Amino acid sequence: MPVTISNPTLVLNCGSSSIKYALISADNQVRITGLAENLGLDTAHIKHKGLDGNKQEINIAGGSHKLALQKILALLEQYQPIAVGHRVVHGGREFSEAVKVTPHVLEEVKRLKIIAPLHNPANALGIEAVNAIYPDLPQVVVFDTAFHQTMPAKAYRYAIPKALYDEERIRRYGFHGTSHAYISSRADTLSTAEGKHGWLTAHLGNGCSAAAIYDGKSLDTSMGITPLEGLMMGTRSGDVDPGLHIHLKRTLGMSLEEIDTMLNKQSGLLGVSGLSNDMRTVEQAANEGNEDAKLALEMFCYRAGKYLASLSCALPKLTGIIFSGGIGENSAVIRDNILQVMRHFDIRVDTAKNNELYAGNEGSFHHPDSKLELWVIPTDEEYRIAQETREALGL
Ligand code: ADP
Repeated sequence: MPVTISNPTLVLNCGSSSIKYALISADNQVRITGLAENLGLDTAHIKHKGLDGNKQEINIAGGSHKLALQKILALLEQYQPIAVGHRVVHGGREFSEAVKVTPHVLEEVKRLKIIAPLHNPANALGIEAVNAIYPDLPQVVVFDTAFHQTMPAKAYRYAIPKALYDEERIRRYGFHGTSHAYISSRADTLSTAEGKHGWLTAHLGNGCSAAAIYDGKSLDTSMGITPLEGLMMGTRSGDVDPGLHIHLKRTLGMSLEEIDTMLNKQSGLLGVSGLSNDMRTVEQAANEGNEDAKLALEMFCYRAGKYLASLSCALPKLTGIIFSGGIGENSAVIRDNILQVMRHFDIRVDTAKNNELYAGNEGSFHHPDSKLELWVIPTDEEYRIAQETREALGL
């Protein structure tokens, strides 16, 4: 009997040259996924994984976002999606929850390119393309920043002149909101601790961010007006002295654009190790004795631990720490090293359990005597977006 997929929601993540998609059944039991890559180039193609697990690759040489979406929607048409949920990077201070797409919302997504120039225009392209093909299919936008809109002003304001906040919206917004929301709400369900829960969440992937979440609300996070602030990442530096820009301009004559590229694309694990932005490569090189790779690992863990410790100041109560993202979900060594940095927190790791948590396993790894709970929760941003999409439409 053919497998069916009941009342599915299509989740789209449109980047500047790629589209990630997932068609998810209402009960989250069945999923079709795929990725369109290299859009606009001769090598543009779609990798599609069907319901039966069969994979196919479709060549769309030179294909645009619109063409890719036409093909993707044609592949999925037989399953009759009831709604589309778009991951949108920046919702500014206008959006604190997922909203149905209207002409006004689409205009706002486009206007917010002033603070997310690389991402919001691609997200808007996706909305328009779906609209052109299926004008009657309801669409919802789920913002990466929305979950952090509950931060208090003391956490989101920069200590710079007030007019820049009032007139130019310069403030901290935070990102990875759907991931922090998903993993903290999952931990709320799994934890046996009584009362309201306070979590420190560490999303450690190519991009890395941490957040302080109490009773389901974000109270502070490590990323700021852009995703560059905070932790050391794959290619992003995270925090640097803001005086670095003027120093590099004076001493090396670098332009602001060059400095921005250096901090976003050539720094982090890649910049310090000189090898790779991929944690597996850096870990392997460190194990083989490469000193730069060892330092990159040490810095990554020291900065993550230091940030998590400082974010605990935002919480009325601390229940535990949650790890997620490709690194947080897979590397017991990195988790252990980060927790050793936080050695004054009365944390006790169950090493055997920690070692068992990788490749999509979900579970706790604290020793019964540990003051704090420790969790690995594989993130599921697609599911969270599908859920918020249905909620926004009252489905
Ligand atoms: P993205 O942020 O692009 O979604 P991921 O969440 O998939 O990325 O995380 C990618 C990172 O996870 C890479 O640095 C990769 O090396 C790392 N990673 C994946 N598997 C492992 C592993 N077994 N051990 C250490 N790091 C891993």
